Amino acid sequence: MIELTNVTKTYRQGGHKVEALRGVDFRIDGPGYFAIMGPSGSGKSTLMHLIGGLDQPDSGKVVINNDDIGSLNERQLTAFRRKGVGIVFQQFNLIPTLTAKQNVALPGVIDRQPRKWIDERADELLKLMDINNRADHRPDALSGGEQQRVAIARALLFKPKLMLADEPTGNLDSTTSERIWNLLGELAETQQITIVMVTHEPAAAAHCQRVFVLGDGQCRDEFEVNGLDASGLATRYQQHL
Ligand code: ADP
Repeated sequence: MIELTNVTKTYRQGGHKVEALRGVDFRIDGPGYFAIMGPSGSGKSTLMHLIGGLDQPDSGKVVINNDDIGSLNERQLTAFRRKGVGIVFQQFNLIPTLTAKQNVALPGVIDRQPRKWIDERADELLKLMDINNRADHRPDALSGGEQQRVAIARALLFKPKLMLADEPTGNLDSTTSERIWNLLGELAETQQITIVMVTHEPAAAAHCQRVFVLGDGQCRDEFEVNGLDASGLATRYQQHL
């Protein structure tokens, strides 16, 4: 469960103040597959940072599975970021000198988990992502879609109940994107996790069950996808801006 109550976040740059979030309210009851849409500058990345524990709100509450993110100390926040949430980005952020499997295993190595546990979990995830046959390849020998599947496997190492995907297919062609959107939907269902995807693509959001629309630092509206296709969803999204 993700609950945001009157969340604000202001950046100060030089003498200027930028109100990135101006009282955001919404609630996501997982598990499931959810989309956050909104034009550039509407506050989507800021919101993801708060939900992922990468930053804290100026005021209001961000509660993730009963944890009030604003009240966690640095040690608790680090533990939440490492194990409570998996994050994937548009740039896959894989380490170029490590193989696919070593990339998936890396958070476990950093966290000093037992070697056997890491090894078995990495194998399990590579299989789940259908890239076990690429386990020994370095990122530059993998396609974009394969690299993103490695990044998704890495994000799932500690079995988080929450996954955030920030424009996960921004660097991928449409066929590969479609595969990743479907894969995330299947993961939400089979692993019983909550996946929140930031996207500006109606075709991506059409795979989700519910869409939250951000505009000018506020949640302008939310609606069930309920069978809408990409063009139906685009029309609906425009109405809410
Ligand atoms: P989006 O992801 O929807 O494009 P952002 O959350 O990145 O929106 O940004 C919302 C607003 O906050 C924008 O006006 C942006 O310029 C500003 N902003 C974001 N991050 C910072 C920062 N670190 N310092 C100053 N301003 C920022």
